[in-house]
Amino acid sequence: MSERYCVIGNPIAHSKSPDIHAAFALQTGQDMLYERCLAPLDAFDATVRALVAAGYGGANVTVPFKLQAADLADRLTERARAAGAVNTLIFNSSGGIIGDNTDGAGLVGDITRNAGVDLEGKRVLLLGAGGAARGAIVPLLAALPAELTIANRTVATADALVDRFTAQLAQDQRLAACAFENIAGPYDVVINATSASLADDLPPVPGSAFRAGTLALDMMYGKVPSRFMVFAGEHGALERDGLGMLVEQAAEAFLLWRGARPETAAILERLRQGV
Ligand code: NDP
Repeated sequence: MSERYCVIGNPIAHSKSPDIHAAFALQTGQDMLYERCLAPLDAFDATVRALVAAGYGGANVTVPFKLQAADLADRLTERARAAGAVNTLIFNSSGGIIGDNTDGAGLVGDITRNAGVDLEGKRVLLLGAGGAARGAIVPLLAALPAELTIANRTVATADALVDRFTAQLAQDQRLAACAFENIAGPYDVVINATSASLADDLPPVPGSAFRAGTLALDMMYGKVPSRFMVFAGEHGALERDGLGMLVEQAAEAFLLWRGARPETAAILERLRQGV
């Protein structure tokens, strides 16, 4: 069975997903092709429909189309509905489109498997309340932290997110929202899900959020260490970028499409070394 897949975005030339999926296919002996697909900003739906008509098996979706992908899908998985965003589309043979979100599972997989941090009973701080943060909430809570606090520059957005998820999750009391200036550390794990690093900015997190050995994970990858990673390191934290999350979310998508879950450790190591 040979099938075609792609990652849809705009811009898309920088995407590492084709390299990651090619490595997965080689490792698992799967016969598949995975390409970059540049969708015009005003033609995401038409681009997806053309891929379905051309017999593609599915697609990953990246910036700026994750919300549009959620609107376009005929059916959303529970985690995609909770995130309100889709990063993986599955085109089934009857022409239906399923939307899933593997970003949060990728984040938790990277923290637990690759960084070796068990989240159970831990204090976790999530910075940001945008798409990436929303997708992380349900998978993070499933890993049983004692507390998950969401801090956002616009506090009302974090409050609304916590209200929505608390109601959805049978009044889960582990979720809280706060302003950056009210962060009461130290935390065991601090995740930067703001887009500040993309602009080479430091989110206004206090140094007291960290202690020696805190895992400080910036979802950004590429141009690292980010200012967040450097700042966290200066306060004793172990810094980590978002490359592991990227590889793990890709492995989750590969599993959905191909029914096989690749071993990610060696592939992540190769990407880190740029080979
Ligand atoms: P969004 O645009 O949806 O959200 C941006 C968030 O960042 C908002 O909460 C915003 O706060 C906050 N923010 C922006 N600038 C600052 C700043 N200077 N200081 C403090 N907060 C700020 O972005 P995404 O959620 O899509 O992406 C967030 C990050 O996650 C990006 O770096 C992206 O590259 C990364 N990512 C990585 C993935 C991976 O596989 N490794 C997958 C997905 C995303 P406000 O509400 O106040 O505007």
